[in-house]
Amino acid sequence: MLLSRFPRISLAHLPTALEHMPRLSKHLGGPEIYVKRDDCTGLATGGNKTRKLEFVMAEALEHKSDTIVTVGAVQSNHVRQTAAAACKLGLRCEVLLELRVENPTQTYSESGNVFLDKLFGANIREYPAGTDFDKAMLKVADEVKAGGGSPYIVPGGASDRVGALGYVNCAMELLGQCNEQGLIMDHLVTATGSAGTQAGLIVGLKAMRSDMPLLGIGVNAPKDTQEQRVYDLACETADYIGQKGVVSRDDIVANCDYIGDGYGIPTKSMNDAVLLLARLEGLLFDPVYSGKALAGMIDLVTSGYFEGAKNIVFLHTGGSVALFAYADQLNT
Ligand SMILES: *Cc1c(COP(=O)(O)O)cnc(C)c1O
Repeated sequence: MLLSRFPRISLAHLPTALEHMPRLSKHLGGPEIYVKRDDCTGLATGGNKTRKLEFVMAEALEHKSDTIVTVGAVQSNHVRQTAAAACKLGLRCEVLLELRVENPTQTYSESGNVFLDKLFGANIREYPAGTDFDKAMLKVADEVKAGGGSPYIVPGGASDRVGALGYVNCAMELLGQCNEQGLIMDHLVTATGSAGTQAGLIVGLKAMRSDMPLLGIGVNAPKDTQEQRVYDLACETADYIGQKGVVSRDDIVANCDYIGDGYGIPTKSMNDAVLLLARLEGLLFDPVYSGKALAGMIDLVTSGYFEGAKNIVFLHTGGSVALFAYADQLNT
């Protein structure tokens, strides 16, 4: 299975490292826990969107676009990485920010990712929570056209069948690393939001005939909604790469028990997990995605969900820039 026939540009530092976390593993007393360092993809402090953008931005260039139009929450890591990629490729970037978190602090509204979006010169427009962004992005695209530009719309999280190729590729990379290091991973765990990461990973694993189970830990939607979203995108992606039927509904597992009061709202278990990993492993996780996923994984290790597993791997999707936006809401 080759991805080389799809347009791609190099944006990420790859392969990302696969590292053991001995102190966390010992502390939890369960399986040996590894971390796949997609927080270190390199572009503008890194994160999982960079792998997707290698394929998505290549499409934008094929379309001869000069302006990227995309959407995200105020502290969107996707928007930050897209804005940086646009700069690197000499494209303009129109950003639609959803005011998704209610009663934000001033720090949330100004620091972290949104500060970097401005640094990268993105043109930011703000919209109320629940806006129909498919429509709103088309409207902005029309404005760009009216001004003589050529827009390319990147969906939220770059989660379409093109962006998901980045995580098909990541699954192949991970399997190669396990092979080289003589490691059998009994489980792969990732945060799941706009679904492209989990969808791409499962397609990559199944297409490579790996039976490594994949668990997504949700940060936004309820379990049924999230699993359906991942499944739909996984099927579309499998089709796109000529692997139709490779993913079955049972391969898609999301646990959405660690969201707390909602997207972007801190939970105590996230706060504890962020501190634990900082102090045991010197690693930074974020309050919105990787921190909540980590809190879920820690709870599941402690409660015996991974019983019988020798090794598990957590995909670190990045996002630590958002820590600064939450500095006055986290207990250290
Ligand atoms: C976007 C994001 C995710 C979720 O990935 P999806 O592909 O949207 O499901 C996880 N972690 C971080 C840090 C992210 O920015």
